[in-house]
Amino acid sequence: MNEGYAHNVMYDFCCVSCGYSVRGVAIDQLCPECGTPVQASLGAGKSASGPAIAGMVLGIISVVGCIFYGVPSLICGPLAIYFSSVGKKQVREGSAARSSGGMATAGFVTGIVGTCIGVLVLAFFLLAILGVIAGSRGGGLGP
Ligand SMILES: [Zn+2]
Repeated sequence: MNEGYAHNVMYDFCCVSCGYSVRGVAIDQLCPECGTPVQASLGAGKSASGPAIAGMVLGIISVVGCIFYGVPSLICGPLAIYFSSVGKKQVREGSAARSSGGMATAGFVTGIVGTCIGVLVLAFFLLAILGVIAGSRGGGLGP
């Protein structure tokens, strides 16, 4: 009975480009008057995506956090990737402002970069610690 219910604009909403009401038009369609994607109009009036913002912040923390032995990077990096994906989905579905798409992408990229840096930095410190332990055990043989 309600097939397609969620995919049509069910309230009075005007096209961002020409002001034509796109009520009843499917969200993946174009404005009948000027051809602007309906989704663009839907996103324009929406607030920013919370997960997209969280993803970007976590992504930045994951990159900067590598100075703390890479541990914050390994925690925040995957979270940034996750939240950015949620943010991107919201933008794609038109439930969040399109401008959040940039933040979601930034969070996604920095999340991946941060995770990689975190792995490398943590591996480096672990090897360094192991090296110190190995070095101290063989103390008598060293210079
Ligand atoms: Zn239009």
